[in-house]
Amino acid sequence: MNKTTLVSSTFENPSTRLCFFLLFLAQTTVLSRQKPFRWLNTRSDQRSYIYFVMVGGEKQSLSPKEIIHHKFGVKASYRIEQVHVSSQSTCLYRCHLQLPDFSVVSNVFKRKKDAELSAAELALEKLGIHPQGDDDDDDDITVEQAWDDIVERIKYIFSDEFLSSDHPLGSHLRGTLLRDGERRGSLPLSIIAALDAKINSRCKVINPSVDKDPILAMSYVMKAAAKLSDYIVASPHVAALRRKNPYPPAVVEALATHGESIKVEAVYIQCATSGEEVVDLITLDISSGRYYLDIIAEKLGLKDSSQLIISRTFGKTPSGYECRVYSAIPKLNPSDKSSKAYGKRPVDDEEDQSSRFKNPWNAKASSACGQDIHGDAIVAALGYSCRSNDLEHDDVTLKSFYRICCGMSPNGIYKFSRQALIAATLPFSFTTKSSWRGPLPREMLSIFCRQQQLAEPVFTISTSPVKPLSETLRSLKKLKDSESNDSNNQCVNEYAGSDDSFNHYNSKDEEELPVLESGYKCGVKILSKSLQDLVLDCSPRNFYEKESYAIQNAALKALTWFGSLFDDLDADPEQPRCYMKGHMNWMFTRNVMIKGKFPSSKRYEEPAYDESKTMDMDRKPKRVQTIPNGSLVSISYSVSVEVEADFWGRSGKCLRELTESNEEIEFEVGVGSMNPHLESVVTQMSVGQYACFVTNMPAEGLVLADANDTARTRSLLSKLAAGLEYNVHLLGVKGPTEKRVESVFFKPPLWKQRVGYAVKLIKESSASTLVDFGCGSGSLLESLLEVPTSLQTIVGVDISQKALDRAAKMLHVKLNKEACNVNTATLYDGSILEFDSRLHDIDIGTCLEVIEHMEEDQACEFGEKVLSLFRPKLLIVSTPNFEYNTILQRSTTPENQEENKSESQLPKFRNHDHKFEWTREQFNHWATKLAERHNYSLEFSGVGGSGEVEPGFASQIAVFKREALVVESVAEGSMQPYKVIWEWKKGNEEKKE
Ligand code: SAH
Ligand code: MG
Repeated sequence: MNKTTLVSSTFENPSTRLCFFLLFLAQTTVLSRQKPFRWLNTRSDQRSYIYFVMVGGEKQSLSPKEIIHHKFGVKASYRIEQVHVSSQSTCLYRCHLQLPDFSVVSNVFKRKKDAELSAAELALEKLGIHPQGDDDDDDDITVEQAWDDIVERIKYIFSDEFLSSDHPLGSHLRGTLLRDGERRGSLPLSIIAALDAKINSRCKVINPSVDKDPILAMSYVMKAAAKLSDYIVASPHVAALRRKNPYPPAVVEALATHGESIKVEAVYIQCATSGEEVVDLITLDISSGRYYLDIIAEKLGLKDSSQLIISRTFGKTPSGYECRVYSAIPKLNPSDKSSKAYGKRPVDDEEDQSSRFKNPWNAKASSACGQDIHGDAIVAALGYSCRSNDLEHDDVTLKSFYRICCGMSPNGIYKFSRQALIAATLPFSFTTKSSWRGPLPREMLSIFCRQQQLAEPVFTISTSPVKPLSETLRSLKKLKDSESNDSNNQCVNEYAGSDDSFNHYNSKDEEELPVLESGYKCGVKILSKSLQDLVLDCSPRNFYEKESYAIQNAALKALTWFGSLFDDLDADPEQPRCYMKGHMNWMFTRNVMIKGKFPSSKRYEEPAYDESKTMDMDRKPKRVQTIPNGSLVSISYSVSVEVEADFWGRSGKCLRELTESNEEIEFEVGVGSMNPHLESVVTQMSVGQYACFVTNMPAEGLVLADANDTARTRSLLSKLAAGLEYNVHLLGVKGPTEKRVESVFFKPPLWKQRVGYAVKLIKESSASTLVDFGCGSGSLLESLLEVPTSLQTIVGVDISQKALDRAAKMLHVKLNKEACNVNTATLYDGSILEFDSRLHDIDIGTCLEVIEHMEEDQACEFGEKVLSLFRPKLLIVSTPNFEYNTILQRSTTPENQEENKSESQLPKFRNHDHKFEWTREQFNHWATKLAERHNYSLEFSGVGGSGEVEPGFASQIAVFKREALVVESVAEGSMQPYKVIWEWKKGNEEKKE
């Protein structure tokens, strides 16, 4: 049978009217939302091409990796990255797949193989190729075949045989057979469409948007049933199917006694013609001998279950039962334009679809299940399973309903992960992995996409030609110039001055770190699962130093953007929120099925927080943020709903209900990971202090999702003077990480200035060999390859395998790309406290920010060894200036903390790994004695701040010059404790390990 005969046959059938009505409904709700993209068309062409191939006999489908291999051969390169998850002891893998035009990165997996497969799949997705081999075979079949299958399946569902099957539809049939008269055995279309996997998958072949719209699937079932007019009754007014011939009486009689009476709680969402929906509990009283869907239908004021539509399952009760939304099949409005005042759908109000329906759009129900719901709705957790014939059921409480709703938004996912529904909010910026709390943005985006039936996000990474060093040198020069005519360093001045200038430091434009002009850039595309059409294309313009940071930030941007759909419906979704300005290009299409408005429609307003009432803080009338952005803050807190906002308790009549509390929670300041009130208050406190403040109410749903006693909380919320009372105790503060401080306080970041300083000296020398002692990830070596130098041999030594791995990767890319004089590059695994004769008599030794990572006596030992044995012509050593810490940490040490210094958890040093940090005097002493003993001349300098002004440079630098022209040679090969980790020679292949 083909499609045309099917359609024409429907005209002869009485069910035609309903069928077309349903189709019309479906088209108005779903199809109108698709923008006709050219992109989409090419996609469907590709799809049909693949069908063709499959039907044409090439049954064996290729795996994604094979397809990639066929297309790109050796031009496709897979790289596996190990990912360490601190919470798990196992090692996970992520795969990077580089293709000629783009690269993709997989999610993390336990097995390398899975990571590779996932990367290949992502690449195919980007290429618009759909490999076959889903668990179901529905991609192999044609639309005609799909129609045939549906017809076939319906016939089977109404066979005698099926009545006793374990299939949930069998139980439904048995349920409907308990009715009397005409309606006996009349099975609602919606339940067939919702519960039968086969029919569902075939409907998807006909039109992939059935996922979004149950009505569409119902119309297909109706249409197919029309083909069975000899066998099935599809009456013109009822969305239900019935068998023409009665079932054998014996079978029906056997059913009669079946079933017991059940009482189930469910949530009723009443649609108001204006304003928000009213949510309340109802009890479904399912007496034995009645079909449960009829009871739900009655509650909704419907005649019977044939008027119902049933949503997909979307959330679980605490004991794991899946919920669905039940509502009436929407009725069309007789006059189209009459009801504009009804609830508006947010995403595509342009077309004003909702006004076509008699009933207003139900925002809460729609947001819960991700499908369009009109009119009143019931959320219930009950149904038949394959396992038993009994009706499985669970109560849906208000709390569990609100929790499900809350967990649908990106913000909600984050809130749940932190177990802080009221206190936590999805951060707007990802700074460092070490300060991020909760699941990483990338994982959250995956969770979100799965929940919303979107495809896995596709990340695209690009790198840009690097130009940073010349830039660094230039700005370094500018800095030095400005220092020489002014007494102080501009950066420091900006941040460390009065309270007012300190505010500058906290301003929001400093949200991203580090701000680079080169490095990794990552965009993310999100497609809908069924239609593969583009939902979001987000390409941030920022560069990040590390690939993973670029990815995390792209994921976070996407989450934030989706979040804005949920949180702020009034805002035009095409208008990005202010904090995104200048950071990315957005593209958004309207065919998103995500619904907003809920649960945090009411946004936090200006804190109703009254300073005169804040304990311990009333001595400080001016609000000053004393804990700087980037700090990690640890607090304990509780939040209560309270009426009369009178926490002094003068009246003693304060009604209060505890909503949320946390004994200890840690968060980063300045990235929006806590609600603004809490963060603003906490960052004005000092360690050990308590504070109490009151704010307006957030969205009711949020509070109810959180509250222990829903009924009592609800009654408090209904009172006019209800507010939220916070009690906070500041447990501890850790200063921002060294890297962050270096990036926030210094422009260019201090590490860049250090590297720039060394590169300048190296350029000026005519050195040909260089050893970087404690090279770390190779930041200096990298920069050296970006500018012309006379260097021919470069060597890095470190004891960290991880750092050396990173350095090797970087060198591999740089050396094979950049044309330079360097003809040998080697990385050694070894301790610089040991001498290796291969590195004797080199031109330049560098040792940037390394000695403070050893014990002091080891630093002395290193000094001795390097000058007496390695004997470089020039040695550059840098280390932090301890005295400068007062400036970096001033902000984290408010004056009133002098008294309780013992409680302060501020780091003494800039980095927890530092074993010491020297004052200028200590450093001078060390270097001077050393230089004297080994016949070196010595110069002091530094970067960050000024050498002439207290407290000196932020990073102090000593430059040792060898006085002796010749050095006695060391026996070749006498001492070679270092292990070659990676080696590169011009013209030759590189060697590893
Ligand atoms: N010089 C690099 C890295 C500084 S971090 C930069 O400026 O970016 C300090 C580095 O010193 C770390 O990578 C650490 O592994 C290394 N290190 C510490 N003690 C060492 C030792 N005894 N021998 C070799 N490397 C050492
Ligand atoms: Mg250091």
